[in-house]
Amino acid sequence: MRGGYATALNEALALGCKSLQILPYARHHAPSAEELSSFSAARSAAKLQLLVHSRFVPSLASSDFVRRDRSIKHLANELILTTALGGDAFVIHGGAYSPDSSLDEGVKLFARSVIMAVEQSSCRIPLLLENVPGGGRRMGGSLEDLARLQDALKPSLPNIGVCLDTAHAYAAGYDCSSAEGALKFLARAHRLLGFDAVRAFHLNDSRALLGSHREHHEHWGKGRLGSEGLKALLDREEFARTPGILETPKDGPDADRLNLEFARRLSV
Ligand SMILES: [Zn+2]
Repeated sequence: MRGGYATALNEALALGCKSLQILPYARHHAPSAEELSSFSAARSAAKLQLLVHSRFVPSLASSDFVRRDRSIKHLANELILTTALGGDAFVIHGGAYSPDSSLDEGVKLFARSVIMAVEQSSCRIPLLLENVPGGGRRMGGSLEDLARLQDALKPSLPNIGVCLDTAHAYAAGYDCSSAEGALKFLARAHRLLGFDAVRAFHLNDSRALLGSHREHHEHWGKGRLGSEGLKALLDREEFARTPGILETPKDGPDADRLNLEFARRLSV
């Protein structure tokens, strides 16, 4: 988002992307209504699927009312922007529960906060819960956790789904580096979350160790995941139209192109 909405869209089109994920706004920049509507029109014309990723990891599950309330307002603002941008889905992390609290309580507070933000923003765009590296009080590292978050939201938000991140899965202890491991992870996701719950992927290699609970995205081919597990995911026909987003490092002008080429070579 550094170059603004139009630049982000043009970059994606130049790379031949069919889907794009953006943060709802650049830091210190509140977009004008014109910027939002012209982006929304250009995006529809380009037929790109648009995911919007929450910028904050908000304290939606915090026991502290003031922090929670602030997070609800942040989230509601992001959802208002996502609607104005014409997003197809909004990706959000579960955050962490407070030290004096429990997973049970955290799940409840998170769900209540998300529902309040959706109501405040009148947002109708599907929310996707993303798996995280997990560890400690962070919620959503295991697929069981993710299922609990999803179950807590489903009665109020029936179109809730999930976005699976390969690097986070690996750091959480799911070995997606082999075809067998990736398909086992997927089968478990289907069983715990529902067959139609997986609506997007974050396709990242990881430098973090298996089960380390650390976040360290890496270029494809330079991390611990490699090509075998990725190919197994890309080969699944049920995900032929499911967006796969690269969140690999952007440390050079060719970084995105090279990572896309790596994935595209595997999916032919
Ligand atoms: Zn991700």
